Amino acid sequence: MAHDDAGELRFETRAIHDGQAPEPGTGSVNVPIFQTSTYAQPDVGAPLRYDYARGGNPTREALEVALASLEGGAHGLSFASGLGAEATLLVSLLRPGRHVLLGDDVYGGTYRLFERILAPWGLAFDIVDLNDLDAVRAAARPETALVWAETPTNPFLKVIDLAPLADLARELEALLVVDNTFATPYLQRPLEIGAHVVVHSVTKYLGGHSDLIGGALVVDDDGLAERLRTGVTAIGAVPGPMDCYLALRGVKTLAVRMQAHCRGARAVAAFLREHPKVRRVHYPGLDDDPGHAIARRQMTDFGGMVSFEVADAAEAIRVARGTELFLLAESLGGVESLIEVPGPMTHASVEDSPLRVPPELIRLSVGIEHPDDLIADLDRALG
Ligand code: PLP
Repeated sequence: MAHDDAGELRFETRAIHDGQAPEPGTGSVNVPIFQTSTYAQPDVGAPLRYDYARGGNPTREALEVALASLEGGAHGLSFASGLGAEATLLVSLLRPGRHVLLGDDVYGGTYRLFERILAPWGLAFDIVDLNDLDAVRAAARPETALVWAETPTNPFLKVIDLAPLADLARELEALLVVDNTFATPYLQRPLEIGAHVVVHSVTKYLGGHSDLIGGALVVDDDGLAERLRTGVTAIGAVPGPMDCYLALRGVKTLAVRMQAHCRGARAVAAFLREHPKVRRVHYPGLDDDPGHAIARRQMTDFGGMVSFEVADAAEAIRVARGTELFLLAESLGGVESLIEVPGPMTHASVEDSPLRVPPELIRLSVGIEHPDDLIADLDRALG
């Protein structure tokens, strides 16, 4: 089999084989769905490999090995949702009295977790522009334990420069957590740039077919992994084996799907930029986008998400109602294209916060349909 210079199998090959060897008993090419809650033990307190499925399941473990391999980390953990992964991470690694620096554009549900659950629990947080290192330094406190970055961000597709941020996090003795949901490990590997933890909503590109809810964490450090595994067992936000199977099936085609998403998004962004009814396009692949230079260094392509601004809220709603191929729906990262208005939809939970999204912003998840069909659909809807 083909190996790269380091002697390792390449990304596309690992996505299909790592953690997914044929099942030894039957030769099943696909990892079986071990639909069980518990495991018979040969003797008291002497389980074979697993004792109870909250702690471990072979289908789940296969997914965790594959995700760790793709992110370039030693340990993967999977969860019932992206937010389940986030909550387990934060509650397991932090304590009341600690402080977090949160990027100024993140998924609304992440902000809601901090604001509604973790702040009353005793965790302080400040919102900061993570590309402004002076601002990050100024917002840091002795009790700052973690920096939370999303890149590209949801919904503005802002690109955070991870290398200097990772250096600063180390100087502050804080962990750098990167939500890599939009980029996926095919386009960007934060652990290799210096992040301590990678977070995913597996629901999105990793699953890739809008048929499951899932989350994941990947770390390289053994001590961090140990603390997170305790969190997994103690909190119990674990995925079922069927969803792990579906996620694994999605992961196998991640590389080819991401190539198609990137190609489509590039074409859609170029079309929108020229459209007279579009005020502004947010896509790091456009050469005049503020994140373009960083994205070129940090990512291998620019991803499948595009946001754009129209005249006002009513126009945004009109356009979102008007497409046919782009389905009006929350979520992203599936093979089918989706359109949404983040202000009243995915980001309604940041309505009264500093992260408020203007109502004239439209977000597209560009699927893998033919880009010409997608452009014709948008052209019709824009009118
Ligand atoms: N992170 C990002 C960037 C997201 O877009 C989402 C969901 O939209 C999440 C995390 C949360 O993931 P989930 O919906 O799987 O809980």
